[in-house]
Amino acid sequence: MAARPRPYLEDLNPAQREAVLALDGPVLMLAGAGTGKTKALTARIVHLLDSGRARPNEILAVTFTNKAAREMKDRVARMLGQVEGMPWMGTFHSISVKILRRHAELVGLKSNFTILDTDDQLRLLKQLIVAANIDEKRWPARMLAGLIDHWKNRAWTPAKVPASEASAYNNRGTELYDQYQTRLRELNATDFGDLLLHVLTIFQNHPDVLDQYRRWLRYILVDEYQDTNVAQYMWLRLLAQSHRNICCVGDDDQSIYGWRGAEVGNILRFEKDFPGAQVIRLEQNYRSTPHILAAASGIIAANAGRLGKTLWTEREEGEKVRLIGHWDGEEEARWIGDEVESFQRGRGGLGPFRLDDMAILVRASHQMRAFEDRFLTIGLPYRVIGGPRFYERLEIRDAMAYFRLAVSPDDDLAFERVVNQPKRGLGDKAQQEIQREARAHGTSLLDGARSLLARGGIGGKGAGQLRAFVAGVDRWHGITLDRDHDHIRLAEQILDESGYTAMWQADKTPEAPGRLENLKELVKALEQFENLQGFLEHVALIMENETEEAADKVTIMTLHAAKGLEFPVVFLPGWEDGLFPSQRSMDESGLRGLEEERRLAYVGITRAEQLCTISFAANRRVYGQWQSQLPSRFIDELPSAHVEVLTPPGLYGGGYGAAGMASSLESRAVRADVYASPGWKRMQDRATSRPMAQPRESRHVTIDLEAVSAFSEGDRVFHQKFGYGLVQGIEGDKLDVDFEKAGPKKIVARFVVAAHQ
Ligand code: ATP
Ligand code: MG
Repeated sequence: MAARPRPYLEDLNPAQREAVLALDGPVLMLAGAGTGKTKALTARIVHLLDSGRARPNEILAVTFTNKAAREMKDRVARMLGQVEGMPWMGTFHSISVKILRRHAELVGLKSNFTILDTDDQLRLLKQLIVAANIDEKRWPARMLAGLIDHWKNRAWTPAKVPASEASAYNNRGTELYDQYQTRLRELNATDFGDLLLHVLTIFQNHPDVLDQYRRWLRYILVDEYQDTNVAQYMWLRLLAQSHRNICCVGDDDQSIYGWRGAEVGNILRFEKDFPGAQVIRLEQNYRSTPHILAAASGIIAANAGRLGKTLWTEREEGEKVRLIGHWDGEEEARWIGDEVESFQRGRGGLGPFRLDDMAILVRASHQMRAFEDRFLTIGLPYRVIGGPRFYERLEIRDAMAYFRLAVSPDDDLAFERVVNQPKRGLGDKAQQEIQREARAHGTSLLDGARSLLARGGIGGKGAGQLRAFVAGVDRWHGITLDRDHDHIRLAEQILDESGYTAMWQADKTPEAPGRLENLKELVKALEQFENLQGFLEHVALIMENETEEAADKVTIMTLHAAKGLEFPVVFLPGWEDGLFPSQRSMDESGLRGLEEERRLAYVGITRAEQLCTISFAANRRVYGQWQSQLPSRFIDELPSAHVEVLTPPGLYGGGYGAAGMASSLESRAVRADVYASPGWKRMQDRATSRPMAQPRESRHVTIDLEAVSAFSEGDRVFHQKFGYGLVQGIEGDKLDVDFEKAGPKKIVARFVVAAHQ
């Protein structure tokens, strides 16, 4: 046979080519980040088609996100040129929906079934919970939803939930799960988890259907295999077991969805389930410079129980991974904004880079706010991937509606949004009454409510709660009229008195802590404004700006969402114990959680091609309290030969840097480098020539809300707005402070931090 040109094979290395050419039988490509797994998988699809081995509709490729599927499609199309039809590429969910529509009746559904979103799902669960006489306050619907999701990830239908789970959800979990599935069927609906589970049930109970798909989908390819859960694994195994043409690619070091039921054990089981599987290891990394690779390898080496891999690269040495400490999170955002702009212009042989080439990868979504605010202020176009932008989040919109009402009680849209949030027993009917009353008198909804209450037009327990709500808005509005009011205090007061914070505190679902953190973050954002009004205007402008589409943007996203992606320049902020690794993973007994966090760190560093910058802040406001932060334990694990410690911006900024670094880097491995740097010396000179906060004795000192005892007369303290001062007296939770610049003030103790001399 005459050799045909096959360009898609030519830019592969021998190991990759082997994986592409081994078309028959099971293949596992197990390799580290950036070794070209996804590239090889894509080439394999092209080869299947180009060699005539398979028609497009005989190939199924599973990706982790829809975005990844789109990219793969584009690449295949580019490599092949004109083809008739495209292989089936999508996520487990998108593929399952299509299969389920076709065979819905086999699981008691009609083919036009609806897919419930989370809100619908919760509403349905609540109805069942009420009907079952369960106190929803103690046993929230969200908790049940999380439980059911967990069971579905393990492929447990109600009948298959093991006896060991019987005590879940106050012993009622399995029973409610069963009822929930029945209700869904009656409604001709599914939730997200059902999509996969129903298909699995169909495959298990109807061999004829399974057989049809096995004959049809003769070649199966799976990317990011390390993050498949049990249900997905069973789904794949059923489909592939007869022809065994399955090619999975993954990296055990990048398994980061354990919390969502992913089982890295699936990789280890592959060879057992598919005996004779070819295991191909790729070792050459094409993405990152040696320094970046060494830093990532250094970190992941601390994990036990790895399969272990060697990685090398032919790329030029490049820049070391940069490490920098900041005084606080705002300063970190400011610095990164400046860096992005300077790289955009090109600096020191690096760049110029497009904004598209740069990404900020955060551990927790509440970290994004500081960056969004900063970038808006300096007019730097950005995009947030994987989740709404900060000010579009549900809890933020709710809280802002409260603030709007406090500033302008006539804001009817804000009124509507929060009058029954949290629940005040004001259903649709009561709200319509208020609307009618307001229309009849030509007043705002708030005044409508007031007059409705006055004439006894509303009854039941809603009346009392509505009265309290109206009184609350009046009170808050009154405070805003006082020119000297503390708007941060007011914001906290509003969120407390309205019961809004309490609502999320009572919520036991996984996302509730994140929402609470976002609320704290919102209050923190207020610090940069004179009053609520100014803040609301700022946000209104942000929302407006959104429509301005700039093509070139810097990306802000979570580490989780960044899997599989690459950027020339990557910033990894917030490397502090309690944030990254997360507090939860540190509190957990055993190392499981911590090891998953470490894999996340590995994923983060390995996204970078040319330049990776890790940063941390010495102070961060966590749950409304200033807290001094320890640099992440992962920073200790960075091999120092590949890290350059940068001079903190305190040098040219406000002069806080020295204290920040000193308090943060104590007894840390990197400390030696810092202290040896000329920057440090200069900072110390500055530190002695002017007063500034000194490092605290103990780390992780939390200024407790009520713990006024943390201060005594004569203490030196720092306040965000007023600066430094001395405590003159203590009264309840308030301090009399004589500020150096602002003079004597009465300050709520939690708004200051200790600045020991
Ligand atoms: P991850 O584990 O992060 O998902 P991966 O193993 O899937 O990484 P790819 O994204 O496929 O890696 O490839 C990383 C980079 O290396 C891409 O830019 C890709 O184009 C490039 N690359 C891969 N293989 C080669 C090769 N043989 N020659 C040149 N460049 C390559
Ligand atoms: Mg990949």
